[in-house]
Amino acid sequence: MEWNVPLADLDYGPEEEEAALRVLRSKWLTMGAESQAFEQEFAAHHNAAYALAVSNATQALHLACLALEIGPGDEVIVPSLSFVATTNAVLYTGATPVFADVIGPQELTIDPREIEARLTPRTKAIIVMHYGGYPCHMPEIMAIAEKHGLQVIEDAAHSPGAWLAGKALGTWGAIGCFSFFSNKNLSTGEGGMLLTGRADLADKLRLLRSHGMTSLTWDRHKGHAYSYDVVTLGYNDRIDEIHSALGRVQLAKLAHNNARRAAITRQVWQALASTGLALPFQAVSEAQTQTAAERAYVSAHHLLPVLLPAGQDRMAFVERVKAAGIQTSLHYPPSHTFTYHRRFAPAGGLPVTEAIAAREVTLPLYPTMSQTQIDLVIETVRQALA
Ligand SMILES: *Cc1c(COP(=O)(O)O)cnc(C)c1O
Repeated sequence: MEWNVPLADLDYGPEEEEAALRVLRSKWLTMGAESQAFEQEFAAHHNAAYALAVSNATQALHLACLALEIGPGDEVIVPSLSFVATTNAVLYTGATPVFADVIGPQELTIDPREIEARLTPRTKAIIVMHYGGYPCHMPEIMAIAEKHGLQVIEDAAHSPGAWLAGKALGTWGAIGCFSFFSNKNLSTGEGGMLLTGRADLADKLRLLRSHGMTSLTWDRHKGHAYSYDVVTLGYNDRIDEIHSALGRVQLAKLAHNNARRAAITRQVWQALASTGLALPFQAVSEAQTQTAAERAYVSAHHLLPVLLPAGQDRMAFVERVKAAGIQTSLHYPPSHTFTYHRRFAPAGGLPVTEAIAAREVTLPLYPTMSQTQIDLVIETVRQALA
């Protein structure tokens, strides 16, 4: 289907083409100068001490769990209202995911009170997910973690270039995990990044990323090393030079593109304010930006979720919007309701998550949206609700 307004679209141009060609002509395709520069630039952009580029965010989350020695017998608290990879990262290690509810229709992020309610003597870590690029309640969550000796991993797949209280999302917990999948704010096709402030974790993650080997092909090419030892059970989760070169170009565009996403979001929020739709994160964003110092509360505006009024038939709404050539999506089918994951669902379910997920529709949002496309989305949504 040829959409008038797709859900997401890439901001790709001659700069990305030039970057890919630069790598092809260099004939060095993996873990070299581009990857190192991408890591340094991404770390600097987020004010982080260490950055490690990886093959994707799913593996970033997996390696983060392994580096924090999460394994069989451990419990890890996760939001169910996320992409399933958040939960699967825990399952790969043999640990048990414990699903927690989100705050409510105004904020679709994990509820700190839910985290406390689901603690057991086996709880080892919490994975938070900054839904749509909007910050979780990190000061509260970090205080809970500190009090109970828990590790915090941030699924920051939606939130490159986002800030809370002067600290980048992805640098609050022990390890932050970013995604560069095609539909994310910073796109390379496949790709991911780990951020950490701890040298010991950076060393562990570096080993886990590349077979547990003590030296890399790159080091040997440079004459820095001849042989190697294998000191842990590692994986191949490396990125390659083409993806890193694309990532550097996309990183340079990130601040501008995130600002564009913010402006489009504000425009759509204003236009849809009196339609009966609930607009998650609108109230908190407005309250925060009124009082805010720089970087006090900066969303990456990855998604534009709306919640339909009670009683509105969601599939009928989606079909009406689709008839105008506008693509929408659902974020997310709750992970605890999947056939495979149901066995980990809490006894009483997750009432807030379930109620929100049943009403949620994600509208198109991407930095290259034209005013005509924005107006078409607003008009079509208004009419589809009428
Ligand atoms: C996209 C996404 C992931 C997985 O990212 P990949 O790079 O595709 O592996 C994980 N968590 C969330 C919340 C995501 O949106």
